[in-house]
Amino acid sequence: MKNTLTLLYFLTLTNFLFAQTDPKDTEVWEPEPRVVASGDHTTPPDDAIILFDGKNFDEWQSANGDGEANWVIENGAMTVLPGTGDIKTKRKFGDIQLHLEWRTPAKVEGKGQGRGNSGVFLQMRYELQILDSYQNRTYSNGQAGAVYKQHIPLVNVCKAPGEWQNYDIIFKAPRFNKDGICVALGTLTVLQNGVLIQNNVEIKGAVAHVGQPKNIAHGIDAIKLQDHGNPMSFRNIWVREL
Ligand code: MG
Repeated sequence: MKNTLTLLYFLTLTNFLFAQTDPKDTEVWEPEPRVVASGDHTTPPDDAIILFDGKNFDEWQSANGDGEANWVIENGAMTVLPGTGDIKTKRKFGDIQLHLEWRTPAKVEGKGQGRGNSGVFLQMRYELQILDSYQNRTYSNGQAGAVYKQHIPLVNVCKAPGEWQNYDIIFKAPRFNKDGICVALGTLTVLQNGVLIQNNVEIKGAVAHVGQPKNIAHGIDAIKLQDHGNPMSFRNIWVREL
């Protein structure tokens, strides 16, 4: 009993002596985040790498080999020239914040996966679907905003054909150890037209049209845009390395 009382007395005294009463004690001043000038809805922040500003394919090449990107640039946008193949960035990336604007053809042709199909592939292998999903039903894990065949978008915020839309993507690449074993899955957070459609979902592996995705070790890699046979347009593409 006496020991317990002594202990209680000691604890109360310690509490009194070391109690934090100054709010300044919990203020953190270092490091200070660097200053970045944010853009508005049409211009990128000033620390972004500009991948496409409407003028040229300097940052892009054919995804098959290292040939030139053979899509068309017109009125500040690049448009898929069907049959010329996918294009990819010359640079390779790890974790990124990516902004891109895309537009499905105003003239509606085809249905389901055949209407306004493209895709943005992170590290060449993780596909965030781009599709005309405006009153165009297809399988839910294959509609616009789906992590293709892996995650259904939370909502469908697709605008009408011919209208510009945008994706703001936060991608954390998967981690592999030196033996090639995946020790942390990649993740994706995506806003479409300012609305959250993928909330920190785990990427199961490289996109697979048939069968289960495989998670095979790889390093940093390019961003790829898909030629799926539709004249899809893109503009204002920028990236920030995280
Ligand atoms: Mg696609």
